[in-house]
Amino acid sequence: LLEIKGLVKQFGERRVLDGIDLQVKRGEVIVVLGPSGCGKSTLLRCLNGLESVQGGSIGYAGKDLTAAGTDWREVRQRIGMVFQSYELFPHMNVIDNILLGPLKVQKRDKREALLQAEGLLERVGLLDRKHAYPRELSGGQKQRIAIVRALCMNPDIMLFDEVTASLDPEMVREVLDVIRGLANQGMTMVIVTHEMGFARSVGDRIVFIDRGRIVETAPPERFFTKPESERAQHFLDIFQ
Ligand code: ATP
Ligand code: MG
Repeated sequence: LLEIKGLVKQFGERRVLDGIDLQVKRGEVIVVLGPSGCGKSTLLRCLNGLESVQGGSIGYAGKDLTAAGTDWREVRQRIGMVFQSYELFPHMNVIDNILLGPLKVQKRDKREALLQAEGLLERVGLLDRKHAYPRELSGGQKQRIAIVRALCMNPDIMLFDEVTASLDPEMVREVLDVIRGLANQGMTMVIVTHEMGFARSVGDRIVFIDRGRIVETAPPERFFTKPESERAQHFLDIFQ
């Protein structure tokens, strides 16, 4: 579904992604791990057109997204992204936040979009909060709304960048459960997380990045029990 080849990203002279090769198949859940500053967020941002790239290609739907003329507004409807900081509009209530994209960008029928939004809200247990404003919600609730907002565009792929990192421990679970539900339904996802237990249970493949390069790719069981690279071993030692 996604084919990344030799992706290079530089900030000035600094090479932050140094030739990333990664294929994501339909229905696959990739978990990206690696030390702080290794380039995880940058990689996701490149896939969503939030960063320009200096080399390589991103194949998606028969096109190279790094080519000139890519309509990122269009691509972002297909490749949804959720961030650590929810990015909800503070002056809009929950349902208006969710419907903004479907109505304004996708020009969908209001009744149909509303039905879908309500169905998604119900699934994440927040239908009764549809008229609330972001400030009236907990962090975990805001993050579940941010996920619903992305899902309501009917994306092919979801990118998650440390979506539980700023949540209190008791709220982490409710957000991870939503993502796990998506995995069970076959959603294609690339997930950056520091929740190792979650990574192990939800990932089809672990991709370990260090200094802008993929150092190791492995099924979770193998990665967490017998990592091949010294750098991955060291990384796991710190967490376990
Ligand atoms: P973390 O786990 O802390 O979120 P990360 O793996 O997501 O780290 P990135 O945010 O992708 O790391 O950053 C990779 C490197 O690129 C870092 O050294 C960072 O300082 C640098 N970097 C990120 N964004 C910019 C920017 N806009 N300008 C310059 N350097 C940047
Ligand atoms: Mg990051």
